[in-house]
Amino acid sequence: MALELSGKLKKLPPYLFIEIDKKKNQAKERGADIISLGVGDPDLPTPPHIIKAMHEAIDKPSNHQYPFGAGMLKFRQAVCGWYKSRFNVDLAPDEVCALIGSKEGIGHIHLGLVNPGDIVLIPEPGYPVYNTGTIFTDGVSYYMPLLEKNNYLPDLDAIPVDIAKKAKIIFVNYPNNPTAAVAPKEFYLKLIDFAKKYNIVVASDAAYSEIYYDESNKPISFLSLPGAKDVGVEFHSLSKTYNMTGWRIAWVCGNKEIVETISKVKDNYDSGVFGAIQEAAVIALTGSQDCVEAQREIYKQRRDALVGGLKKLGWEVNLPQATFYVWAKTPKGYTSSQTVSKLLDEAAIVSTPGNGMGASGEGYVRFALTVDVKRIEEACQRIAKIKW
Ligand SMILES: *Cc1c(COP(=O)(O)O)cnc(C)c1O
Repeated sequence: MALELSGKLKKLPPYLFIEIDKKKNQAKERGADIISLGVGDPDLPTPPHIIKAMHEAIDKPSNHQYPFGAGMLKFRQAVCGWYKSRFNVDLAPDEVCALIGSKEGIGHIHLGLVNPGDIVLIPEPGYPVYNTGTIFTDGVSYYMPLLEKNNYLPDLDAIPVDIAKKAKIIFVNYPNNPTAAVAPKEFYLKLIDFAKKYNIVVASDAAYSEIYYDESNKPISFLSLPGAKDVGVEFHSLSKTYNMTGWRIAWVCGNKEIVETISKVKDNYDSGVFGAIQEAAVIALTGSQDCVEAQREIYKQRRDALVGGLKKLGWEVNLPQATFYVWAKTPKGYTSSQTVSKLLDEAAIVSTPGNGMGASGEGYVRFALTVDVKRIEEACQRIAKIKW
């Protein structure tokens, strides 16, 4: 059979991390002792009390049927309680919709809002899924570069008026993947004004809000600012906070109409999140948060080991204030992909080329802090032996 793919599928760039995984596996097959600092998938286990809750929930026959809808009331209430205690934001359960991972909601929001030719404003370098949803709806991505000189915040004033007028959604992602930047209150206030002026939906991706290093300076929620709920929603996920990437559980919350729009799309695509997983998520969100605190301490030690090690070797790298990524400048004279290739071929280290996540990422590599301190030290020793 001559399988003819759809034009949309053909338009999709190869999914970066699947490509990186392939290269990693090829190196493994050659017998290399790989240190994987590539994909942002936590190596730490899901906390035991959450797994125990899942064991109990899975035995309940009521969880064996279609879950349907925006999620269980108790899940949505748990989200409201968590938002109140973490961000002092008031949410009602009908302003929350459970998602099968935030990637799912981030990729599907377009279906409710974007018509062919509509513009979607997307940060670059950035998470590839913002663009995927745009391609699948025949929208047009307009990329907002994230530059060091702007503290990796998009310059809203630089967006041409005719583009802003045609834009339907603006994606922002702080704490940021891949640059590890955090957004201040002033940025969100400006964003709300911009969204109101041009009637654009704000989609704030806050997957890394709990991976921070300074207790006195925690990342804030876009929804904590006045007017935010008039224009937008925030995506959150249990994936990074509780090491639950494989479970597929997240949510979108904020503006009720937008949340309902996403929920409507989902009603027609999937039939909700497995009830037992929602019940386990309730335990995660309402139980003790000590596990998250302990994990922040682990990431901090890893961060300090890698940033310290790279700096000693003369690399230009900032100390990240949040996320489990380190965004490092490539050694002088080397592009992102040359650096990544050298790291893999000569040190068996997997990393992500900055330009793979957007043109403005050229000249950088992203390291994920997803191996223990010993392996990070080993990685630094191997990098020290590379001749640049
Ligand atoms: C990991 C990540 C997510 C979360 O993905 P899930 O589908 O919830 O596992 C969302 N946004 C960004 C930028 C991420 O890196």
